[in-house]
Amino acid sequence: MSATTCLAIDIGGTKLAVGLVSSEGRLLTRQQAPTTRGADAETLLGKVLALSEQACASAAQRPDVVGVGCGGPMDPLAGTVSPLNIPGWRAFPLVDRLHEALGLPVSLDNDAKALALAEGWLGAACHAESYLAMVVSTGVGGGIVLDGRLLDGRLGNAGHIGHLVVVPDGRLCTCGVHGCLEAEASGTAIQAITGRPAKEAPSAIIERTGQLVGRAVASVVTLLDLDLCVVAGSVALGFGQPFFDAAQRSLREHTGLDFTRGAAIVPAGLGDEGPLIGAAAVGFAPSRTLERA
Ligand SMILES: [Zn+2]
Repeated sequence: MSATTCLAIDIGGTKLAVGLVSSEGRLLTRQQAPTTRGADAETLLGKVLALSEQACASAAQRPDVVGVGCGGPMDPLAGTVSPLNIPGWRAFPLVDRLHEALGLPVSLDNDAKALALAEGWLGAACHAESYLAMVVSTGVGGGIVLDGRLLDGRLGNAGHIGHLVVVPDGRLCTCGVHGCLEAEASGTAIQAITGRPAKEAPSAIIERTGQLVGRAVASVVTLLDLDLCVVAGSVALGFGQPFFDAAQRSLREHTGLDFTRGAAIVPAGLGDEGPLIGAAAVGFAPSRTLERA
């Protein structure tokens, strides 16, 4: 029998969110809490499990699968995660620990890849065969669907657009390289540059962030012959139209071939429900991700 309700878990550098999602992609309940900076591995897991319990308690249905979207990098074969923005988890066996605690099949994928699945399922990339989906938030991530298939890559890490270099000799990134998109355009970077949270960024920073995102997207759409990039995340969606205008202008400036002419950068269609619906997409489609049954 196919699964009917998914316990969807979204693990990010700023917040943990858990919800129940129906097989039609409807978010039934949701709970969230901040990701405590500097918390140890067990404290973080305890928080995820407490939120899961609350989400289940407030819904009529019981989940029959678990889907997890988590910040990268990760080792999908081992089921371990080492999110750059969550230092408390390094090679943490998240899949096994959730399976032990919840007694349900658990599927895991990168949070931005999960979001790409969600936007293709019910969002702004609905009906698109090939597209890039991005998250510009605490960090910057991405997922690529090409010819109808989410790209995994050798170790499941395909789509890490946040670590394309967009400013030669730019700011030092957590990955050790200078000038990555994440080191210049993420919420964390903007706070470090301006001394204020991204939501208080001046218009020059909004413009610059859009330009840099457009520059990275230009390389990806040219490389892969795409015409659509969907952007989610609190920073991008919070900046709104001025950000998207700057990104679109920059994309046009940095692409010159005929097949890239119509490429567009658009806001995500699922808003802040995207990450949980994406985690559910991972849970409902375990054949293409890691599963512990
Ligand atoms: Zn980097």
